[in-house]
Amino acid sequence: MISAEDLKAFGYYDMFNKPNKGKWADSYSEWVEKKIMTDGQDRLVENTLGLVGEAGEVAEKIKKLIRDKSRFSNEEILKELGDVVFYATALANIYGGGLREVIDLNIAKLDDRQKRGTLKGSGDNR
Ligand SMILES: [Mg+2]
Repeated sequence: MISAEDLKAFGYYDMFNKPNKGKWADSYSEWVEKKIMTDGQDRLVENTLGLVGEAGEVAEKIKKLIRDKSRFSNEEILKELGDVVFYATALANIYGGGLREVIDLNIAKLDDRQKRGTLKGSGDNR
């Protein structure tokens, strides 16, 4: 179990303190950009298919957990989720935001929905 002291030692809380807020996400977005091997329309398609494919790999592992009682370590699942984050960040970079903006926009959206009691339901603009 990770304690609050572990998180403090890791610098977790600093991630949310200005002026360092989001700096780690910016660094990650820049790192992702250096791994991209396609450009233009090819990149958009490759990164989108990568995101969907990696999300599918997560779903496949969860399916096998349920159907086959397969065992996967937490690290195996986390690695697949990391692949999802990679491609989500690659796409965010295309749209000029990067991981930091994706997270900030998502937090703002979900906090707003929670305040207005609309976390449940459907529709992008509820
Ligand atoms: Mg994968």
